[in-house]
Amino acid sequence: MTHGKEEFSNGQNANIQKWSAYIKGSANRQDFLECALDWVSNGNIGDYMSRHRFDNNIDELKRYFNTVIDWVSAVFNDVESEMRGLEWGRLYEKYHKTSYSPAQVSAEVKKLYADPYIKNRRGIFEYVLGGLTDTKLLDVRVFDEATKKSVYTSQTKKAEAKGVSNCPLCAIGHDANKSTIWKLAEMDADHVAAWSKGGETNIKNCQMLCKTHNRAKGNR
Ligand SMILES: [Zn+2]
Repeated sequence: MTHGKEEFSNGQNANIQKWSAYIKGSANRQDFLECALDWVSNGNIGDYMSRHRFDNNIDELKRYFNTVIDWVSAVFNDVESEMRGLEWGRLYEKYHKTSYSPAQVSAEVKKLYADPYIKNRRGIFEYVLGGLTDTKLLDVRVFDEATKKSVYTSQTKKAEAKGVSNCPLCAIGHDANKSTIWKLAEMDADHVAAWSKGGETNIKNCQMLCKTHNRAKGNR
């Protein structure tokens, strides 16, 4: 504990500025020490402390902590304020065996930062680490009710005139729903061009699908 405080709670430590990019808090409140313990113990600080109570050095703790910090700073060239306080220990364990091109990562992060549809910027880093698949991390903006209603109305009007379903995917199908007119509440908004492929969240890129087809289409 004493050694830990010397290393992590010493305001004179030259590394503090580097650590502060990724960890919230300050040396005198022992936030860095707590974070180091949290990472090395995978969240079981009490357990780790009792197992290492009689150690006369903190080599393992320091090594692990520095490994995580070095990994983050090697993968992400740019330091963004939203990186502070993320679960870097968990992300290191999950992704450090994957190899990344820092230049490509940097380009992806920049592109996502410029995307006005992303509500949760803190999710960008894990989204990139995970290979740009889990859009749930980003909390992408969805279509508002006025847009849905307006699209529903014009879509339904056209479908009724043609005698086909107001779900465009039902309309081209061959089952009993071919001419079903769904109620607004029975449909969901869909990005015609998927958001992940550059499709925008505006009325031009919105279509209403019946719930079954929207679920089947999956990505947004
Ligand atoms: Zn349908």
